[in-house]
Parts: sequence; C-alpha cells; structure tokens
Amino acid sequence: MPDAPASTAAPIAAQVDQLLQRLGVPKSAYADGELAVRSPISGETIALVRQTSSEEAKAAIGRAHAAHLAWRLVPGPRRGELVRLLGEELRAAKADLGLLVTLEVGKVPSEGAGEVQEMIDICDFAVGLSRQLYGLTIATERPEHRMMETWHPLGVVGVISAFNFPVAVWSWNAALALVCGDSVVWKPSEKTPLTALATHAIAQRALARFGDAPEGLLELLVGQRDIGEVLVDDPRVPVLSATGSTAMGRQVGPRLAARFARAILELGGNNAAIVTPSADLDLALRGIAFAAMGTAGQRCTTLRRLFVHDGIYDTLVPRLAKVYGQVKVGDPRAPGTLVGPLIDGAAFDGMQKALAESRAAGATVHGGERVAGIGGDGAYYVRPALVELPAHAGPALRETFAPILYVVRYSSFDQAIEWHNAVGAGLSSSIFTLDMREAERFMSCAGSDCGIANVNIGPSGAEIGGAFGGEKETGGGREAGSDAWKAYMRRATNTINYSTALPLAQGVTFDIGD
Ligand code: NAD
Repeated sequence: MPDAPASTAAPIAAQVDQLLQRLGVPKSAYADGELAVRSPISGETIALVRQTSSEEAKAAIGRAHAAHLAWRLVPGPRRGELVRLLGEELRAAKADLGLLVTLEVGKVPSEGAGEVQEMIDICDFAVGLSRQLYGLTIATERPEHRMMETWHPLGVVGVISAFNFPVAVWSWNAALALVCGDSVVWKPSEKTPLTALATHAIAQRALARFGDAPEGLLELLVGQRDIGEVLVDDPRVPVLSATGSTAMGRQVGPRLAARFARAILELGGNNAAIVTPSADLDLALRGIAFAAMGTAGQRCTTLRRLFVHDGIYDTLVPRLAKVYGQVKVGDPRAPGTLVGPLIDGAAFDGMQKALAESRAAGATVHGGERVAGIGGDGAYYVRPALVELPAHAGPALRETFAPILYVVRYSSFDQAIEWHNAVGAGLSSSIFTLDMREAERFMSCAGSDCGIANVNIGPSGAEIGGAFGGEKETGGGREAGSDAWKAYMRRATNTINYSTALPLAQGVTFDIGD
C-alpha cells in the first residue's frame, strides 16, 4: 500500500476520506452522522460520524459477554495467534493509520507513526505472553497437599480512552485482554472517533483471517461520555480501563467501586524533573525539550515542572528559553515542525488562564502566545511557554493540558524532592544527574512518589515492556508490560489433598467421630 501524500496543500477532509476508505471504514460510518469531527490542523470539520445509541451499546456489551464465554475456552497460545495477526495487519496499515492520527489529533508524523508502532510492539509482547500466563506453586503446611494459583479469563474488558493517544491505549488493553481470554468493548474519545473506526476495521481483518473467533469479541461504541457511562454501569463489564482526566476518574471510579468492578484508572499527570549540579546539561536540554514540548505538551507524561539547582540555573534556563523561542511551531505535516496544534479552543483558553495566573504570581513568561497564520480561525497554534516561577505554587500545582513548563530554582536536594512530590498527580518523573547518590535516592522509597521514575531521560516516551501508570490522583492503574496482564484475569488459589487424611490448616481440629 503506498504512503498517502503528506502534502499540506491537499484538503484534509478529502485526505481523511481517502485514508478511511483505504483502511476499510464504510462511508456510512463517517459521512452523515451526528458527531462532527474537527481536524486541529485547520479547525475544519472532516467527518460526521454516526454515534452509537445506548440500546446499541447494551447490545454490543451483550455480544461481547457471549463472546467471552466462548473465547475463554480457546487455549492461550491460540488466542495469541489472533493478536499476532492483529500485529501483522497493523504493520501493513502503519503508514495510513499513523497519518490519520496526524490529521485527527495534530501529532507530527513521526509521533503519529510512533503511536502505531506502539500498538505493534504491544501485540508482539502479548503474543509471547499468551504462552506465559503462569501462576505460582506455593509451599503448603499440610503433608501430601499441593497449593497453587491458576489464572482465568475475567470477562468483558471496557476501555474508555482519551483524545491524545487515540489508538495506542486501546491496543495496550486489547492485546492483553485478548490473550487473557477476555472480550473488549471500546469507547474512544468523542474528539477522535475516526482513528478508532480505522483501528476497528484493521482488527476486523485480523479476525477474518483468524477464522473462528466468536462474534462480538471486539466491539466499538462511538459517542460522548453518556455512552461511556453505559460501559461504566453495566454489570456484565467486570473490569474497566479508563484513560483521561482526573476529573473523569473522580466520576468513573466511585461508580465502578459501587458495583465492585475492577478499575484500571490512567488519569492526569503533573510530571516533574530535577536538574542537579552534576547533570550533563547538553543531554538534559534535549531531554527537557522533547518531554515538555513534544506532542504540543499534550501527553499525560509531558514534563510540566522543572526544578533547577541554583548553581546551574543561570546556565541552563537561558539556553532553554532560546530553544523555546526557536522551536518550529506549525502544521505538523510541514517538514521541520516539532510543535503542532492544540486539540481545540478550550485547550487554548486553559493555557492562557494558567499563564495569566502565573503572571499575577510574579512569573517571567517566555512564549505562550498564539501563532497566527496557520490553519483557519478554529485552529490553535501556540508557542510553548517557559514560565520562571518565583515559588512552587499556584498553577504549577495542577495539570494544564498544554505546553507550559514551570521552572523553579532550588538549593537543597531535600527541598527539590519535597516540591516534586507536593502535587496531586503521581504519574511520571525524572532526574538529570551524574551523582549516583542523588539518582538512587530519587528512585528509592524516599524519592519520587510516581509510578515512573527515570534517570537522565525525561518523564515522557515510555516503552511498552514496563508497566505503565501512576499513583495518587493518576489513579493507580497499570497497563502494558511487566505483570500488568494480571488485572485482566482472575486468580484462583487451589489446594489439592492427595493424602488419605484431612489435616486442617493452623492445627484446627474438628472431630466428628467415626
Ligand atoms: P477526558 O477526561 O475529557 O476524556 C477522556 C474519556 O473519558 C473520553 O472518552 C470521554 O468521553 C470519557 N468520559 C469523560 N467523562 C466520563 C464519564 N463521567 N463517564 C464515562 N466516560 C467519561 O480527557 P481528554 O481531554 O480526552 O484527555 C486528556 C486527559 O487524559 C489529561 O488529563 C491526560 O493527562 C489524561 N491522560 C492520561 C493518560 C494516562 O495513561 N495516565 C493517558 C492519556 C491521557
């Protein structure tokens, strides 16, 4: 399949139409529906997507439940074969789906393609995992007994995802869920239904090649949060992965808890880095620039707070301000662009509000203004903002989903760690240092309180091999690699007596005579 042209001249709606057709999405799904989809590149409407009704959503959950009952009986390695085929189909569609991510979300092409690569990577991981869903054998206190764990499929996995990783988040969940014997019902962001429709069409090709997968194994619900709520409240959904803002998690979490469903919450971040006097400043500069400005500051792991030691502040921060002034902001399809558009006007307003608060708190703000002349009136391009704050306070304490990096001077390492942890979110973190004691302390129980703690790498850009997620207001969920698969299965502890006696645990006796 040839690469679609990445020309900035072609009308985006026409390009999207061509891509969706090539990817196998029926025109009826996106030509005249109720949900208008805008490209942040130009602000124009690029599709009208048909929404799922709540009756259709309930029926889809019913089909997924029935599919699970059959799929759980298929051996794990055979289930892995479906995921292997999904990985193959994603490889074939990588250029087209990556470009569609660019057009629907505004990511620069290497990040659009990188998101699809992440889907391929998790498929490869899950194929291996399909032969490794193992439990422990545990020493028992009773003679001639055996104790062990078995892992069983759980049921329907609900997935609610955010706009900024419109397809990768589904794949982290779906690839694991499928090999674990579960079915999946996905409600993508209402801002990004096109990449979801395309992903669903790709998955249908893998299902067709697989041959005998039950109908309803992978279901897609398109709509607003009310459709997400159907998934949240349905008792046939024993586990729900919800990715989005902490505000969303505050609504979804208690509703899941009320019906004792499992919640995998992947919520907001307010990620920081500490730059210590021994840091390699050239490396730190590059790491900070990517982590803070990449994806136009719209990653959950985006670097938002920077603590710089007094002794190097006046060397590092002016260099950083220069990079902020020069970095190319523009149409993500144009060569050399590093910072594409914000998703919409609300994101722009949120950014300007945080910058106004910063100025009122006495900050020096570099950048942050709207860059005119790119896209239409409904497109929002901004120069990333570097904000030198006199104190770690105010807007720095919350996540603003835009490219703002707050910089604060520190003099004691203890103080830097204290500030680092003094926010609600606990997703990702990093330290730039060549001092082994500082690095180890940062990663220790007395250091960063986040789910991800890096050394000499920024907080963003995780690989799928590790478990991904964060603590506190980030929600506590873990997805992707390591043993994150366990959240998609239920554990049974089995004790088997192969003796002729019936010894009770803890020396308890219960003699009923002969
Ligand atoms: P959002 O919270 O506005 O929406 C996320 C999803 O939740 C959407 O699909 C939306 O329809 C749905 N939703 C919202 N309220 C709901 C409710 N009450 N019931 C059911 N569904 C509901 O988030 P967004 O603007 O799309 O994404 C940005 C946010 O997501 C940021 O805060 C970012 O940090 C976070 N995020 C976190 C991770 C992570 O892995 N921790 C990854 C990506 C994004």
